[in-house]
Amino acid sequence: MVARKPGLIARCADAADIQNIVRSASHAGIVTAVRCGGHSLAGFSTCEDGLVIDLSRMRQVKVDENARRAKFEGGCLLSSVDQATQRAGLVFPAGVVSHTGAAGLVLGGGTGWLTRKFGLSIDNVVGYKLVVADGSIVQANEKENPDLFWALRGGGGNFGVVTEFEVKLHPLRSVLIARGIWSDDQMLPAMKRWRDFVCGAPDNLRWDMSLRLAPAIEEVPAHLHGKPVASSVAIWLGDEAEGRTLMKHIFGFGNPEAVSSEVTSYLALQTMADQNFPHGRRYYTKSGYFSSLNDDSIEKLVGSLASIPAGRTQVEMSYLGGAAERVGAGETAFGDRSAPFVLNLLGDWADRARDEEHIQWIRALFASLRPAMKPGVYVNFMSGDEKDRTTEAYSARWQRLVAVKTQYDPTNFFRLNQNIPPNSASGGSQG
Ligand SMILES: Cc1cc2nc3c(=O)[nH]c(=O)nc-3n(C[C@H](O)[C@H](O)[C@H](O)COP(=O)(O)OP(=O)(O)OC[C@H]3O[C@@H](n4cnc5c(N)ncnc54)[C@H](O)[C@@H]3O)c2cc1C
Repeated sequence: MVARKPGLIARCADAADIQNIVRSASHAGIVTAVRCGGHSLAGFSTCEDGLVIDLSRMRQVKVDENARRAKFEGGCLLSSVDQATQRAGLVFPAGVVSHTGAAGLVLGGGTGWLTRKFGLSIDNVVGYKLVVADGSIVQANEKENPDLFWALRGGGGNFGVVTEFEVKLHPLRSVLIARGIWSDDQMLPAMKRWRDFVCGAPDNLRWDMSLRLAPAIEEVPAHLHGKPVASSVAIWLGDEAEGRTLMKHIFGFGNPEAVSSEVTSYLALQTMADQNFPHGRRYYTKSGYFSSLNDDSIEKLVGSLASIPAGRTQVEMSYLGGAAERVGAGETAFGDRSAPFVLNLLGDWADRARDEEHIQWIRALFASLRPAMKPGVYVNFMSGDEKDRTTEAYSARWQRLVAVKTQYDPTNFFRLNQNIPPNSASGGSQG
């Protein structure tokens, strides 16, 4: 959906290359995009006629097994990090699709299967090395440039090109994963039970719900293909026997179909959704938070399936909380952590002629749910037409972010992102 043709793509091999290109482009005033995995839903990793700093040659990962630390370069995909850390039986908590760029994901916050147990990705970053707008290299960690360190934990690509992340790792090789599908008049009670259960669940459990038309795949019984369903995935990180008992309880409600549970390797978990989000399809999202999910909102969510456009569009509901929620609101630049229910309306279709149909369906559903939601949004789940929500995303943290941006990027050179304009901004507005 983002078809733009940059004038120049700089495939940087190291920090020195990035310094050179940043100095030249900022001196010449060229619109510049930074690209890691290219997954930006808003299309920020490319631009029309300008420059793209492409980091795909910078995918080195160094793991220090004893210290449980890793350093990875700014062009890494999640798969680069997962593969290297798993060789030592360690994990860095990040997202759920392995071809997502680690840099873009981590800079915005980073949520995934391990968030409840180990926190957001940014809660596990101990240091950044970056090239800032004047071309110099800056370190940001608890001791050096602590304000920048704070801003980089959630503030996106606003402050420079991160060439290296230093992160904490945790031991984990496998998880217990269970699935099941509720349909027809069981969807509503299943959603309500999910809502009630997750609030008191242990950090070792992450249980997500997805409302959608069931895909015509082998794992789904044929009589459900194309029908509205509440499809569910739960993962457990602790003792297997304890997890199996819990999964029995979760999927023992009503008569879910296609129920399965198995122990799977961490790498299999991290790649299992890869083929569901291939490059080249059409995607559109709207996202937000609920402090609590009332019956009326659940009824709207389930009721929306009656008009959902055919395709792979879905309503994703997850519950974060856990370790992510225990980090104080002011400790990082990331937006709201206090509203644990995350709604992600994810449009996914193939035919350009159906753009309006999918986008309008998502917008209308979002508007109807909005009054019950808590203001706030995860910047990495924002679409390109939502620039007005950036202040909403950062709310109380906005002025401090503007101050850091003004110090490190006074001309708003890095502006193809969920932009935080500096006080002195005179830059353009392409995006
Ligand atoms: C299929 C799919 C699955 C997703 N799953 C998850 C998930 O599980 N959890 C989650 O939290 N999010 C998820 N997201 C959202 C994802 O976090 C954002 O789209 C993120 O921006 C992707 O990062 P990227 O590096 O791939 O994107 P890019 O488009 O390359 O970059 C995104 C933004 O980051 C900036 N940027 C990239 N690299 C750098 C760098 N080295 N230094 C400075 N700025 C940089 C870019 O300029 C741009 O503004 C998913 C998105 C998609 C499309």
